[in-house]
Amino acid sequence: MACDFSFRHYAECVQRIGASPNRIEMIHDIDFEPNNVRAMADIECRNGLKTTYFVRLHAKSYNAFSLPVLETLSDLVETYGHRIGLHFEPFFYEQQRIKEAIMRESALLNFMLRVPVTAVSIHEPARFGSINQEDVPEGMTLYCWDSAYYMGKKYISDSGSRWREGCMCQHLHHEDMIILTHPDSWFHRTSAENY
Ligand SMILES: [Zn+2]
Ligand SMILES: [Zn+2]
Repeated sequence: MACDFSFRHYAECVQRIGASPNRIEMIHDIDFEPNNVRAMADIECRNGLKTTYFVRLHAKSYNAFSLPVLETLSDLVETYGHRIGLHFEPFFYEQQRIKEAIMRESALLNFMLRVPVTAVSIHEPARFGSINQEDVPEGMTLYCWDSAYYMGKKYISDSGSRWREGCMCQHLHHEDMIILTHPDSWFHRTSAENY
């Protein structure tokens, strides 16, 4: 199969993940637009996968609490059985307020969507830095490269529309892994659909 960021190839990969005996967890950071998330969620659901979609609260390009986005996020949970996480932006807070900010922002998402929010990931950690493990509130799980590393999991990401270690389809032999994708990177016919 040819590797690209088309939903055709996404479906091929997800089908293999769904059929794999390995523990392969898929997570998604909604960085710019939630346009593609239903297409992804549908493919995953049809292959028996439950995945996590991380949502930003400070994005310029979408408002997580606007009606269309709220409806999309609710559908992810209710129609497809996926989970919602907080895609946290530490940039907005001083260091000593990080933990409280994660608690308050995830509580806000939980209040709006009426679903538990127990997962957090960091937006642009390469640029702004990650957070300390002590700042992860109790009962929440931090998804990032180094926490996966400490848990002994393989972690790959399509950040910047580029698989640094090769496409996910080349990594499905790992017994315990996390695959991070960004819905904005994927397309039906051409990447021009997204910008
Ligand atoms: Zn591939
Ligand atoms: Zn991000």
